[in-house]
Amino acid sequence: MKVCVVGTGYVGLVAGTCIAESGNDVICVDIDAGKVERLRAGEVPIYEPGLEELVKRNTAEGRLTFTTDLDEAVHASLVCFIAVGTPQGGDGSSDLGAVRTVAAAIGKAMNGYRVVACKSTVPVGTSEEVRAILEENTNENFDVVSNPEFMKEGAALEDFLKPDRVVIGCRSEQAAEIMKDLYEPFVRGGAPILVMDNASAEMTKYAANGLLATRISFVNEVANLCEAVGADISLVRRGVGLDNRLGMHFLYAGLGYGGSCFPKDVRSIIHTAAQHDIDFQLLRSVDEVNNRQKLRLFDKLRVFYDGALEGRCFALWGLAFKPRTDDMREAPAIGLIESLLEAGATVRAHDPEAMDTARAMFGDRISYHRTGYNALEGADAMLVVTEWNEFRRPDFERVKGLLKEPVIFDGRNLWEPEQMRKKGFSYFPIGRPAVTP
Ligand code: NAD
Repeated sequence: MKVCVVGTGYVGLVAGTCIAESGNDVICVDIDAGKVERLRAGEVPIYEPGLEELVKRNTAEGRLTFTTDLDEAVHASLVCFIAVGTPQGGDGSSDLGAVRTVAAAIGKAMNGYRVVACKSTVPVGTSEEVRAILEENTNENFDVVSNPEFMKEGAALEDFLKPDRVVIGCRSEQAAEIMKDLYEPFVRGGAPILVMDNASAEMTKYAANGLLATRISFVNEVANLCEAVGADISLVRRGVGLDNRLGMHFLYAGLGYGGSCFPKDVRSIIHTAAQHDIDFQLLRSVDEVNNRQKLRLFDKLRVFYDGALEGRCFALWGLAFKPRTDDMREAPAIGLIESLLEAGATVRAHDPEAMDTARAMFGDRISYHRTGYNALEGADAMLVVTEWNEFRRPDFERVKGLLKEPVIFDGRNLWEPEQMRKKGFSYFPIGRPAVTP
């Protein structure tokens, strides 16, 4: 099948590459000419495990091409995906500017029947707006499909190639058949393709992200309570999660959720609800709890140092909002660093992938170190912010030797408190008993 994907970010690039990998001809379109140039040269501008290899292979085999020319891409394609960003607007709504621009451009470029599939996360009702924009710009026949994307950064290829389910929202049987045909190679393992109306498909994406965010904020609240009453969240998590009705996923206590999706999607549902005179009280709390949780380590530092953070130096292990990505959008590290700098502390940081992202944000206000150990040199304490696998088994004697004092604040519960005590550390995890040697 001939497919174009407009917007070559995380979602567009992964989707386009995987669709090419299953034997289709895919043209990826972006307005960012620099990005297109780099992709043409085989250089993948984001860090996503396994992606570069797949991009190179499909480009070399001629199934995957990159262009800034949307007209050419639409002329050549039966299915046109919209995968541009839908960032948060000032009032919590989704900014649909790029979606509207692309819809109008696709409409103008159409020279026959097209399926226009919206992969961007968009508020309920957007498919109707896209339909109206297309109608204004073309006399050709078309169908609008709402095809939300559920991939996770860091495991995006696997999620796309082996999805739990595929959601297709549309009114037309023809479009549903085309989309089913396109997705067939990815659901051979038995995952269902759910065909529904556009509004339900759009809502499904928000409901899924809202529920996942709710679990995270819920477990973080329980973790904070565990600290107060002397319980241990890691034991509670197992006790709760082994209940089949609940399951173990998304029950890790930490520093709250970040990234380009959960925070903005939660606020977007709240906004959509408000437009319909509904106060989505639960998700307002989820958002509030999450914002507070992001500063949990900073609060612990203030207590430990009795408010005297000025002149102290802290070593951050991890900057990305989660492991296996260089993405720092809404990462807990951002608020933590800002708060530390404001309090007069200095920050030495290490992250396996997100240092360039952090440099673009903080410039020389913090220092960046090639290894975690380099970051620790002379610091008052170590702060674990992202749970990268390579952080899990450090040489603790070396850690102790590099820090001014053996103090670790662990926002991701990487280690067992009792073992840390035995190793001679003061150790402050989340929702678990703090220990001192
Ligand atoms: P992104 O910011 O990484 O990429 C968006 C791309 O669109 C950029 O390369 C940008 O240059 C391009 N673009 C913007 N305007 C354009 C235009 N007029 N023409 C052509 N290209 C244009 O965004 P993303 O993370 O890939 O997210 C895209 C959408 O998918 C969002 O709605 C997001 O909520 C949703 N989503 C993201 C994820 C994720 O993990 N990142 C997961 C599921 C859904």
